[in-house]
Amino acid sequence: MTQRPDSDILIVGGGLAGLPLALACAQGGLTVTVVDVLDPATATDAKFDGRVSAIAFASCRMFDRLGVTKHLQGQMQPINDIMVSDGRVREGASPFFLHFDHKEIGDEPLGHLIENRHTRIALQKAVADEPRIRLIAPESVAHIDYGSQVTATLGNGDKVTARLCFAADGRGSRTRQAAGIKTVGWDYGQTGIVCTVEHELPHEGVAQEYFLPGGPFAILPMVGNRSSLVWTEKTADAKAILALDDDAFAEEMRVRFGDYLGECAPTGPRWSYPLTLQLARDYVRPRL
Ligand SMILES: Cc1cc2nc3c(=O)[nH]c(=O)nc-3n(C[C@H](O)[C@H](O)[C@H](O)COP(=O)(O)OP(=O)(O)OC[C@H]3O[C@@H](n4cnc5c(N)ncnc54)[C@H](O)[C@@H]3O)c2cc1C
Repeated sequence: MTQRPDSDILIVGGGLAGLPLALACAQGGLTVTVVDVLDPATATDAKFDGRVSAIAFASCRMFDRLGVTKHLQGQMQPINDIMVSDGRVREGASPFFLHFDHKEIGDEPLGHLIENRHTRIALQKAVADEPRIRLIAPESVAHIDYGSQVTATLGNGDKVTARLCFAADGRGSRTRQAAGIKTVGWDYGQTGIVCTVEHELPHEGVAQEYFLPGGPFAILPMVGNRSSLVWTEKTADAKAILALDDDAFAEEMRVRFGDYLGECAPTGPRWSYPLTLQLARDYVRPRL
């Protein structure tokens, strides 16, 4: 006879997708086990992930309901306006632009920009408050059998059983691959350079999406007189830009950023992310 599983749900991966899912399942009355290969302290370290994410209006409401927002006080930058324009390096923006103004749809902002690090910290705190969630980390999932129940063998040899498994182990998901689910997609041949910029003047919650020949140059407002840059270039050009010394990097940044926020300078580390499109061909398998 099959034993009762350890929990209703097993989630492989406790990242930005896995932890909100765990909270939603737990608050719906299900018991959840989350396994993540990363140490939670590493995942929230300032050096681990320099990105900010735009958390759209509906996702902000979800964070409220899941008890995450209360752990994000002072870390959420409202997005009041989004400006979309194009231009050329050193020539400035074209006079034509699109303007999305939150006032056209109501009193609330279009969303919030939050540093991924703070979102991870808030999610971990909300998970710690939830007795129905067991977080096993750092530990990997080595193998999963799908039979009358899900049986996952962890890297340390322990077994975890559940009724249903979710693969939230990122874009290179081994859980997806092991289940034989293929993907379709392509490489854009572009890389996103990410860094934080300090500037003299307040951004007033305006996000800029500025399309340059090498790719979009997004200036995303952060808390304080700071913005997060997602600077997209062809991969070879991005490599050359990333290899520049601090002064030359700042100069390349300024000829694109312009002076609309006064004096500005990059601060802290630079990160880079290859940009690809990837879609799973299928989203379900028995018990997955
Ligand atoms: C430059 C850039 C900007 C972006 N901006 C935005 C934005 O503004 N808004 C937005 O919504 N999205 C944005 N995204 C996308 C967003 O970052 C991703 O969609 C999101 O991080 C995916 O989360 P995830 O939980 O699926 O994966 P991840 O965050 O990669 O988490 C996967 C987790 O699984 C764990 N794991 C992996 N393998 C195993 C294993 N075998 N066993 C156990 N655990 C394992 C990992 O340790 C990790 O914690 C951006 C992406 C990039 C590159």
